[in-house]
Amino acid sequence: MSKSHASGKTQEYLERYVEGVTKRNPGEPEFVQAVYEVASTIFPYIADKPQYHEMQILERMAEPERVISFRVPWTDNEGRIRTNRGWRVQFNSAIGPYKGGIRFHPSVNQSILKFLGFEQTFKNSLTGLPMGGGKGGANFNPKGKTDNEVMSFCQSFITELYRHIGEDTDIPAGDIGVGGREIGYMFGQYKRITNRFVGVLTGKGLEFGGSKMRTEATGYGAIFFLRNMLEHMGSGMEGKKVLVSGSGNVATHAAEKVTQLGGKALTLSDSGGIIHCADGFTQEQIDWIKDLKGLRRGRISEAADEFGNITFHEGIRPWGIEADFATPCATQNEINGDDAATMLKNGIKAVAEGANMPSEQAAVDAFQDAKILFGPAKAVNAGGVGVSGLEMSQNSARISWGTDQLRDLLENMMKDIHDSCAQFGTEKGGHVNYLAGSNIAGFVKVADAMLAYGHVQADRQNAQFKGVATHMWQRPCSFGRQD
Ligand code: NDP
Repeated sequence: MSKSHASGKTQEYLERYVEGVTKRNPGEPEFVQAVYEVASTIFPYIADKPQYHEMQILERMAEPERVISFRVPWTDNEGRIRTNRGWRVQFNSAIGPYKGGIRFHPSVNQSILKFLGFEQTFKNSLTGLPMGGGKGGANFNPKGKTDNEVMSFCQSFITELYRHIGEDTDIPAGDIGVGGREIGYMFGQYKRITNRFVGVLTGKGLEFGGSKMRTEATGYGAIFFLRNMLEHMGSGMEGKKVLVSGSGNVATHAAEKVTQLGGKALTLSDSGGIIHCADGFTQEQIDWIKDLKGLRRGRISEAADEFGNITFHEGIRPWGIEADFATPCATQNEINGDDAATMLKNGIKAVAEGANMPSEQAAVDAFQDAKILFGPAKAVNAGGVGVSGLEMSQNSARISWGTDQLRDLLENMMKDIHDSCAQFGTEKGGHVNYLAGSNIAGFVKVADAMLAYGHVQADRQNAQFKGVATHMWQRPCSFGRQD
């Protein structure tokens, strides 16, 4: 187990808890990694708060309310029948309907979707909007497929999923491999099947209920959060060099916002390698890359053929290049402990996680120990789901807000999230532990809602809080048990 900031009995209890989670979720390392990361900061916080132990809140939070797994048959262009597996993990609905993206990528499995749904619960809580946590997807690879094949897959996927979702139950959105095209196909099929035009998916086209600023929200929000961390330290973005990984929705909009705020985005990447521009990408170059990756569905290496000051480097990640800040925006576990050591040696002063869980635990530990500004994903990339929440509000009210209004709402939301993290994460001496701050701020609201609901067990109804031990280690932990 990696190190945590817990100590003594709290550490012992944490280890027992994670051991239980590991036993109950065999073969799901990403999920265990995500639970450990959150639990390592929550355990010290709740050490003297007996209500959470008595009601087994952390144990219940690590168990999804429901996992749906289903067959997705579809037909390719040669007329062959293909079969993939789809999932929806409805993780926690304590503070609102399940909300979270759908991912189409060959690496998708139950562990990855459970980790994402677990994280989403805390992230959605941080936005201040009434949204629970969920995540879904399929092990389908959209790369190299025609529009017709993607449509066939999306329609089949939603033909099963439609019965489990709804505007007040579960509202999916996009994620890796699921953008405007896929959401359009899925929304169209949902509407056909149910004969209802409701806000059941977010990230829709503007013509059929989508929200302005949703496309930009995650990447822009990530850079707003980075700017908030810098301003909190009396610093800024002007003239600073930023490493960005990925070249999808989040990465290109993060690079764009860096440029707009006077910084230099030096890199972008895809699974083939990185592109590097020592001058910082221009808006024209970013627009060209958005078109390349989002519409023409090409490879990032093509940017080096198009622009004289861009070079392509095959098979590497951007973390060896000297810069001031880093914003990983591709996928999970893209920064390992060695990468983190190199980044720190090169003088990186802030890391803002645009992707979900892009840093392995060893990298998180290295950033935390070095006390650089470390913005964890659940806070940094919450702007996307935040604007999705605003899309839900617009759909319910059958209205549409303007770009300026939504940009202001996004900026304010990111500032509020930053301030909540600072409120719960400021240590003696003034350093802000954003990891602890975001976990605790996200946890409290969900946990208190779960406490308010009670639990389904008649014979315990009157036992609440009577004779409760005041410290968690005085109480038995049920999680290691397999009964
Ligand atoms: P996209 O599908 O638009 O882009 C993903 C990018 O990451 C592509 O450039 C892709 O390259 C690259 N990538 C994927 N896997 C790897 C890999 N193993 N190694 C290197 N590069 C890889 O996804 P998004 O931009 O939407 O999402 C990126 C991250 O942000 C994910 O972690 C997602 O969960 C998270 N996120 C997204 C939100 C959103 O609003 N879109 C909201 C909150 C979080 P290639 O083309 O080669 O596959």
